[in-house]
Amino acid sequence: MDRLYTLLQNRIEGVVSTPDQYHAGLLSNFGNLFHATPRLVVSPLTARDVAATVTFAREHGLTVSTRGAAHSQSRVAISDGGILLSMSSMRRILSVDASAPSVDVEAGVVWRDLVRHLAPRNLAPPVLTNNLSVTVGGTLAIAGIGVSSFKYGTQGDNVRELEVVAGTGERLVCDRKKHADLFWGSLAGLGQAGIITRARLDLRATKPMTRTYYLLYRGLRGFLHDAKLAMERGRWDHLESWASPSPQGTKPVAGRRQVFARWFYPFHLTVEFDPGHPPDDEELLRGLDPFERLYVDDLPTVDFFERMIPVFDLWKQGGTWKHIHAWIETVLPWEHAVDCIESVLPDLPPSILVGGHVLLWPAKGTTSKVPFFMRPPGEDLIGFGVLPAIPARFWERARPMLENLSRMTELMGGKRYLSGYLDWTEDRWKNHFGDQWGPFTALKHKYDPHSILNPGFVPFPAAPADVRRVPGESVPAAD
Ligand SMILES: Cc1cc2nc3c(=O)[nH]c(=O)nc-3n(C[C@H](O)[C@H](O)[C@H](O)COP(=O)(O)OP(=O)(O)OC[C@H]3O[C@@H](n4cnc5c(N)ncnc54)[C@H](O)[C@@H]3O)c2cc1C
Repeated sequence: MDRLYTLLQNRIEGVVSTPDQYHAGLLSNFGNLFHATPRLVVSPLTARDVAATVTFAREHGLTVSTRGAAHSQSRVAISDGGILLSMSSMRRILSVDASAPSVDVEAGVVWRDLVRHLAPRNLAPPVLTNNLSVTVGGTLAIAGIGVSSFKYGTQGDNVRELEVVAGTGERLVCDRKKHADLFWGSLAGLGQAGIITRARLDLRATKPMTRTYYLLYRGLRGFLHDAKLAMERGRWDHLESWASPSPQGTKPVAGRRQVFARWFYPFHLTVEFDPGHPPDDEELLRGLDPFERLYVDDLPTVDFFERMIPVFDLWKQGGTWKHIHAWIETVLPWEHAVDCIESVLPDLPPSILVGGHVLLWPAKGTTSKVPFFMRPPGEDLIGFGVLPAIPARFWERARPMLENLSRMTELMGGKRYLSGYLDWTEDRWKNHFGDQWGPFTALKHKYDPHSILNPGFVPFPAAPADVRRVPGESVPAAD
């Protein structure tokens, strides 16, 4: 038995496991690309456990990697020889305040559980991700965007207060005023400064029913025109869109014949309503010019929030959930959207989208204030996501295409959404963060001076010797 096992187990209420005890699923994440074996897995029960684990790691020269539901894809939520902190053991919904609607939750709470808990009160978080089987801490650490982000920004924009265990082992409660740098730096902060243990989230009142209009567009320009109109009208609660392939035949691409598609653009626009007061369809759709109005769907609002569950279940049943996922999601400036998307789709083989899809999400850049959620400047933005599922034997063939796609979107002024696949050098990271790279690095050095937290993803420069201290340690005198 690992000698550290008993030492750590004696310090915490939660459970410590060694490689012969924990589940093999903990060695990778949804990407299925990176695999690593943690020396110990900790399932904490309290923030005190988290703080004790971080302190223990520092004392024994170990790192701590934080894992929520592991639905991300790069070198995150896994640990190579360190401690993997599996936050899903902290999943209590602590209290709901219906008067100034907000909810206090532990970081391992899964959004789906929260949505169901709140539905009887007609309350919901303003922004929900398509995949609700992920944790509050896991999406706040990335940003968390959804089909209402064009109105409410990211999930991070809708947080009132956080409790965070910093890399120094300190437990800090932070908000927009208190330890504001840690508060903002924990949102879309990739768990680099601290581990979120609790969050107080804003809620909004929902109406019990939703009506969704399924519109179809033949061309990208027409869709974008109407997407902008829909965002500006202020009538819609949720806007969701895709590029959808209709395979046509084969053509030569990069020296080999490949299936190509004619692309169409489904656009789903949703309003919430009270039973007995259905929306006026013609009034709502006035001014929009789709190729076809396909379908109108009325759903209880909670079912609308869970609408993607059957899709993801299909991916699981079809076996593609186990494939490699190397998603390239980029927030593009509106003015380059057509050039960028139209240079990608004609050569994109539709087969890699079996168990995946191409997302197009209209967004407003000014709805977010989260500094480390990097997006292009400007008001109108569009999220462009190529979300393939790739059988392992095709990975080496698909990789250059996806890496080129990422570079191209970045060259066109796009900013990658960091939950997908990326394997960057320091230069790419610096380019991504731009003028936020300095503040991001400074935050890391201040709150995690020994670089204990979540190594292997962001290549930070080492902290200067005078900041590599821990609470209670005196600052060493200059040489
Ligand atoms: C099918 C599918 C659909 C998706 N749809 C969306 C979508 O609509 N919108 C969207 O925004 N994303 C979407 N995602 C991406 C997903 O939301 C992110 O990858 C998210 O980070 C996953 O949360 P998780 O709980 O699985 O976190 P993990 O994957 O376990 O961790 C993600 C990151 O957060 C860190 N982290 C985890 N917990 C904490 C914590 N408590 N404190 C600090 N850091 C922490 C980890 O170290 C890691 O860096 C989707 C993913 C899938 C697979």
